[in-house]
Amino acid sequence: MIIDVHGHYTTAPRGLQAYRGGQVGQLGRPSKGKPDITDDEIKKSIIDGQLKLQNDRGTDLALFSPTAGGMGHHFGNAMISKYWTETVNELIVRVVEMFPKNFIGVCQLPQSPGVSPANCAAELERCVNQYGFVACNLNPDPSGGYWTDPPVTDRYWYPLYEKMVELGVPAMIHVSASCNPNFHGTGAHYINGDTSVFMQCIQDPQLFKDFPTLKFVIPHGGGAIPYHWGRYRGIALDMGRGELDDFLMNNIYFDTCVYHQPGIETLFKSVPTKNILFASEMIGAVRSKDPKTGRHFDDTKQYLDALNLSAADQKLVYEDNAKVVYPRLKKALG
Ligand SMILES: [Zn+2]
Repeated sequence: MIIDVHGHYTTAPRGLQAYRGGQVGQLGRPSKGKPDITDDEIKKSIIDGQLKLQNDRGTDLALFSPTAGGMGHHFGNAMISKYWTETVNELIVRVVEMFPKNFIGVCQLPQSPGVSPANCAAELERCVNQYGFVACNLNPDPSGGYWTDPPVTDRYWYPLYEKMVELGVPAMIHVSASCNPNFHGTGAHYINGDTSVFMQCIQDPQLFKDFPTLKFVIPHGGGAIPYHWGRYRGIALDMGRGELDDFLMNNIYFDTCVYHQPGIETLFKSVPTKNILFASEMIGAVRSKDPKTGRHFDDTKQYLDALNLSAADQKLVYEDNAKVVYPRLKKALG
């Protein structure tokens, strides 16, 4: 079985944007309302989009969440964020109910800059217990590129981690759109977010001592980390933390959303195979085909297959590691 742990509903029908646009007019007095999206529109968007690519590429199941760039936690206020988050999560529920073999839910959290992450617990619980979601996306920078909240290792975040541990769900660390013109969204802000959170966890290893079963998936191949593995190992050793493998790599995992062969090779040479989860993030950051190969950049399975991993290692990356990190996924698959 081939499980893609990183997919977003980037092809959502236009009615969702109309709903989001409507929130602008409600800034003073938000109300939840309902997006005007039919089941047929959802079906078409998936059949022509992610499902088609799953079939073309030979993958089986995607962990599916609302569009990351669209989370927009900076926008409006906590109430706007709550209604928007509930609405996009409910859209994922509709997709999963229509295509239960191909998608399983991962929720957005109703974050807002400066608002306690304790605020996210109820929506996480609703999505997990009521809808069978298996994880959440955690935005380490709800300000959208200005980093106004404490590092993810700060006790500020602990109420959310307590709920995650209680429910047995990991978080994918995932920033949203950038409001800072210095940082291109998918080209800089995403990779910054991935890299910065790993470094935060080196700086303050108390987090995983306090929550030994807490798990973070750092997407986009771990940002700059695998390429600079020696730098981070060295910094950690200089700080007296010991080896990364010993104090971080029972809690932190990387996906394979790296869009060229040398990058995937570096990932596998640097990071233990038990910490690598197959993912493509399709349809997402890079939608074109590589003119040199004629294949989509985000068809990451091609790079993995070209590694000629042993059958046992392939099974780890395509399936078994995901079942370790996402215990509710394992349970759902029986
Ligand atoms: Zn993503």
